[in-house]
Amino acid sequence: MARETTIRQSNDDDADVDPRSGKIRVPPDMSLQSAFDDNEEQPEFDEALRPSKLSDVIGQTAVVERIRILLEAARKREQPLGHLLFDGPPGLGKTTLASVIPRELGTDFQITAGPSLSAPKDLLPYLTNAGKGSVLFIDEIHRLPPAVEEFMYPAMEDFRVDITLGDGLNARTINMQLQPFTVIGATTRSGMLTAPLRDRFVNREHLSFYTLEELTTIVCRNARKLRTEITEDAAREIALRSRGTPRKANNWLLWARDYADARGNGKISFDIAKKALKMKGVDNRGLEELDRQYLETIITVFGGGPAGVQAIAHTMNIPSDTLEDEIEPYLLREGLIQRSPRGRMITAEAWKHLGQKPPKSKQIERDEDDVDSRGQLF
Ligand code: ADP
Repeated sequence: MARETTIRQSNDDDADVDPRSGKIRVPPDMSLQSAFDDNEEQPEFDEALRPSKLSDVIGQTAVVERIRILLEAARKREQPLGHLLFDGPPGLGKTTLASVIPRELGTDFQITAGPSLSAPKDLLPYLTNAGKGSVLFIDEIHRLPPAVEEFMYPAMEDFRVDITLGDGLNARTINMQLQPFTVIGATTRSGMLTAPLRDRFVNREHLSFYTLEELTTIVCRNARKLRTEITEDAAREIALRSRGTPRKANNWLLWARDYADARGNGKISFDIAKKALKMKGVDNRGLEELDRQYLETIITVFGGGPAGVQAIAHTMNIPSDTLEDEIEPYLLREGLIQRSPRGRMITAEAWKHLGQKPPKSKQIERDEDDVDSRGQLF
């Protein structure tokens, strides 16, 4: 059976955070069992630091503005919000925005994820439990098996499901009417969504990386939530090395707090932040060991590229999905790699960052046919 999170509305606007553990204290009227409990990439403090109101969401201004319009229209018409799809790299706030919407509307929220729905019967309880105007959030929606996806089409379009009972000559189909509800899908790979599923989302929003200022604000605000003292320059230093990603900024903030408790007086100063991040192997552009390993693999094994993502993944012994979802988007944005029809290539900037010189024969040519396809990843 698929794991499930159901959040029923409470009047508490702000999450009650235990300042030492960083864990959320769940009010008695809210049952919350994260769909990501056993997922290392979703540490428990994610819940604690997650904004709970739209006004607490920092950055993504245009997206937030459009969501405000959708919310207002839904409230005025007393109809559910149109189905909404968020896409963008991990940790940018897809789950956050999805969870804020039902809170703003005062409706129920259910969470599941594509990989945990292996058959239509796994999805059925979510659909039948969905109350009028409630939100069903499906993370990693690009990983829904085809049978589940097809089962969802009538549910999204006409709020009904077709259930087949028995088989062969005795088979009969029952139509079950559902309450009008909203599906919010999240994906790191909108390109992998089938056209019929994508078309059923009337609203689609792309989340992009955050600016240094936005991330600094997030770090300062979250330090306050954790009741940890932090200087402005330390918050900026953490933000600078967070790859434009709030989840990363939260991770580094918690690590800096641990470091400050263990090696200092508990206050995160510039010096403490710098030392803590150095110990984690984060460089001044926010690159970590795996990022550098990726760049060095293209240099040493593929002479700077072009190299296919599968070949790089095999060489590094890492799933190509991890490279495409977690490593490449930021390196592309930083201009450290280029995607061309022939494969991935190291840019002059990357050679410089690694303190190496490109061999003359391998100087990066910016051929006319080399397309800068940064956006194509999403
Ligand atoms: P995704 O679902 O895209 O992987 P999440 O929504 O889980 O990312 O975000 C990860 C964490 O980053 C959240 O727990 C939250 O603390 C923080 N976060 C994300 N977006 C924002 C934002 N716009 N403002 C403040 N914090 C954010």
